[in-house]
Amino acid sequence: MAGYDQTLRPFLWRAERLYPDRELVSRTHEGIERYTYGDYAERIRQLANALEAAGVGEGDRVGTFCWNHHRHAEVYFAAPNVGGQLHTINPLLPPKHIQYIVENAADRLIFVDPSLLEVLEDAYDAEAFENVEQFVVMGAAVPETDLESVVDYESFIGEHDGDYEWPELDEELPAGMCYTSGTTGEPKGVEYTQKMLWSHTMATLTPMGLGIDDSDVVMPVVPMFHVNAWGLPFSSTAAGAKHVYPGPAPDPADLAALIEEEGVTLTAGVPTVWLGLLEYIENNEVDLSSLERIVIGGSAAPRSVIRRFDELGVEVVHAWGMTETAPIGTVSHLKPDLEDLPKDQQYEKRTKQGLIVPGLEFKVVDDDGEEVPWNSAERSSADRSSGQSPREDGEDFGELLIRGPWVTDSYFKRPEADETDFEGSWLKTGDIVSVDRDGYVKIVDRAKDVIKSGGEWISSVELENTIMAHDAVAEATVVGVPHEKWQERPAAFVVPVDDADVDRDALEADLHETIAGEFVDWWTPDAIVFIDEVPKTATGKFDKKVLREEYADEELLADE
Ligand code: AMP
Repeated sequence: MAGYDQTLRPFLWRAERLYPDRELVSRTHEGIERYTYGDYAERIRQLANALEAAGVGEGDRVGTFCWNHHRHAEVYFAAPNVGGQLHTINPLLPPKHIQYIVENAADRLIFVDPSLLEVLEDAYDAEAFENVEQFVVMGAAVPETDLESVVDYESFIGEHDGDYEWPELDEELPAGMCYTSGTTGEPKGVEYTQKMLWSHTMATLTPMGLGIDDSDVVMPVVPMFHVNAWGLPFSSTAAGAKHVYPGPAPDPADLAALIEEEGVTLTAGVPTVWLGLLEYIENNEVDLSSLERIVIGGSAAPRSVIRRFDELGVEVVHAWGMTETAPIGTVSHLKPDLEDLPKDQQYEKRTKQGLIVPGLEFKVVDDDGEEVPWNSAERSSADRSSGQSPREDGEDFGELLIRGPWVTDSYFKRPEADETDFEGSWLKTGDIVSVDRDGYVKIVDRAKDVIKSGGEWISSVELENTIMAHDAVAEATVVGVPHEKWQERPAAFVVPVDDADVDRDALEADLHETIAGEFVDWWTPDAIVFIDEVPKTATGKFDKKVLREEYADEELLADE
């Protein structure tokens, strides 16, 4: 046995020793800031001293409520390396989810961006935030705030020097945490141990992962509150790549400027971001010559986006993953023997979610838990020998189950989920997939009842409960319908009570108002459609599939 644990510490040590002058650049509230790995490591050690002085040690969770910038990236290494846990909180969630998350995680400190302070104040609840001893504002001054015990980041670390002896940590120690939306009820916490983050980082460095190396200039547009920005701050540091952080709410012009000025080679984000950049490029002169690849994930990368970037000389690396898989699970690289295919067929392959990353295993199971065969060559020959013509790719499908060193096998403080969401070491993903003869996984449906809009989850069940609580509503269901920009938007299908007096316009206005009072703006359904009856399955459950199919081509959301 090698008596050495797999932890994040050596990644930072190596970057500082081998690449002391390589840059980290970020667009912040104060403008563009740049420094080197040498400065980065020094400030991380100052922060480690500050965290220790604040009493943060093994088992303590440190919350962050921040966009993508260098200070956030400092917490990424300091909190786990002192033995604590980096807990990134999604500021776009409804306030009651933020309260639940902070309470459930029992965060001791929260690092917050100046521009998100108001959002945090709105979500603040004394009981839920009981364990939070201090708020650290990401800047050099504390803005006006109702919160108590607030310090600015530069003062917080400024009192400490840059000498720090990192502790030897156990690889099984929780080092990170991120919540994902539950289909019903509260968000579910996923913990990442040191070893999970280590192995995910190593996998992303391989060519069959994201192939990041020290010649790269990496700009994560995916927020750092989403599964550690898909692990990119860790991978970039491990590789010695230059980091570029686009800061608070970047628009396409900001992204284009950073790509040009910083020579970005690899960037990553959800499809909505790249649709925005493509539109910007159509109307503005942008030099994309440094950009080699864009990792697109979180929702399916549209074929048109893959094609348009390809025509601009930029490879789209389509990837699939989940909060539970830390997140990279499959990547749609072209196998060497497919590189000669006509372009159209190449795009077809790359539109799929891709090939399993080395180190992970998966299987596809049907409703009875029986394994569904892949449409491999083996299957085709079995078909042929039984006299049948070989099946077409994608004819068999089922739920994707996945396991591996960076895949979780439980949710935080949720033992009941072990029965429903896991099968031993296998994670039940809730994604329905087919696998083609080349081994490419393709998502064909989603078994979980949630809507993903611009990369963020909306709980259809919570919206339904609110709508159905209205006296004039007999039954209602909320369904994700396709949307060009956001991939999916919620549409509510409402059956009014059997009463001639129900004024549908008034009911619609009333529902909009109730929803607006309870949820964040972007959760509001884009359409409320009155129907006579919600279609049901044989067992009497709402059959959303029927509505999704029926309204897939409708111009329901045409004005949005
Ligand atoms: P999250 O836990 O928020 O990262 O969401 C994970 C879920 O997003 C997956 O289970 C899929 O349903 C969806 N997803 C992630 N990546 C893709 C992709 N490339 N194509 C389609 N759906 C995706």
